[in-house]
Amino acid sequence: MEYEVVIGLEVHCELATKTKIFCGCLSEFGGKPNTHICPVCMGLPGALPQLNRKVVEYAIKAGLALNCSITRYGRLDRKTIFYPDCPKNYQISQQELPVCRDGFIDIEIDNGNSKKIRIERIHIEEDAAKLLHTDHETLIDFNRSGVPLIEIVTKPDLRSAKEAVLFLENLKNILTSLSISDCKMEEGSLRCDANISVMEKGSKEFGVRTEIKNVNSFKALEKAINFEIKRHISEISAGKQLYQETRRWDDTKNNTVVMRSKEFANDYRYFPEGDLVTLNIDDDWIEEIRKTIPELPPEKKKRFIEQYNLSKYDAEILTISIAVADFFEKTTEICGDAKATANWLMGDIASLLKENEGANFKPEQLAELIMLINEGTISNAIGKNIIIDVFKKGKSPKAIIEERGLIQNSDEKTILELVKKVLVCNTKSIDDYKKGKTQVVGYLVGVIMKETKGKANPQIVNKLIMKEIGKF
Ligand SMILES: [Zn+2]
Repeated sequence: MEYEVVIGLEVHCELATKTKIFCGCLSEFGGKPNTHICPVCMGLPGALPQLNRKVVEYAIKAGLALNCSITRYGRLDRKTIFYPDCPKNYQISQQELPVCRDGFIDIEIDNGNSKKIRIERIHIEEDAAKLLHTDHETLIDFNRSGVPLIEIVTKPDLRSAKEAVLFLENLKNILTSLSISDCKMEEGSLRCDANISVMEKGSKEFGVRTEIKNVNSFKALEKAINFEIKRHISEISAGKQLYQETRRWDDTKNNTVVMRSKEFANDYRYFPEGDLVTLNIDDDWIEEIRKTIPELPPEKKKRFIEQYNLSKYDAEILTISIAVADFFEKTTEICGDAKATANWLMGDIASLLKENEGANFKPEQLAELIMLINEGTISNAIGKNIIIDVFKKGKSPKAIIEERGLIQNSDEKTILELVKKVLVCNTKSIDDYKKGKTQVVGYLVGVIMKETKGKANPQIVNKLIMKEIGKF
């Protein structure tokens, strides 16, 4: 039997506001446990919440960037839960009147076609405290309690683990470029729940759904979904009953385990939060926020392909982070060589940039390096040789090559002498060449480059070898 997979995601994203959603405590990550707390975010009786306007602004910003319509009239609701990390016994969230509705993201699937993944809603809510389990006790840290979240809920439009990962990557890039969240999955500021079901191909009725909670990396999301798909199919094929339940992904065992049988929405007994005013969002405010939205990664990618003649792949990589995209554009503007800039940024220095080590590294320096190579002052090999120093020490490439005497030798007379010498010592290569093994030329160029410590101009070396080898 053929099966079809149906996946929907619920993504929680911590907003990078300075203070929490309902009190003035700092919302930053970490800190000594229980130092960013007050009666409101500890849920003490009688404490009254006050809504942080910035949270609504950021939610609207996300909604506009994700093609949503923005509500003019919103409300906060109490969602009844009973967990030790939420001492009020309810979480302040939004049920009926979320800030944003009906958006979408286009993802690019295999054949280069794009697929619209619909977003049902985006609502604001508070994060829970954090439980720290040791062998013999459980401790609670309220620093995270009341940190603002947006929850982005998709329609069940995703059909594979790969599509889910693509959606989440796109979403992360957009949210990061809006500067409303750092979206660090490893710190929990971006977390994802996946709803998965499997049905017979062509069926109109969805299968029994399981929810995988709090997946915290792209790899885990892909593995967890694929595990569930297999599990569902094997249970269905064996004629067994599947149950609606919440499961947890275990990264060490590579499987999912049951956490609890799934609550239904009406188990939460939502009711309006009477301690907070209703949200009245006017058009002027929405327009004001719209103006603060920068060029988003999908548009930037399109522009990079057209303006710089880059491949789709290059444009994709270079637009994932605003910092890298800006670096690329500034460097290209100075040196005029988009392709070389792209190659350097995606090759030798990509991992260094990721590790944030390049605080001293400036577009001017990379542009200078590219121009030195393009005008023949240094070889590409020398460029590769000094890039780490340029990157880490922030020195000018010109200063480094002068200091170390690395200027490329393009003097044909001295190179010719070297070529002759090397050919005499490599008669076997000459024989091979005559037998049609032309790749020995590359080997011989390598020998000369090694002998000159990379300083000989490789084009001239190549040209002279071709010329001289024929004379033997
Ligand atoms: Zn507080």
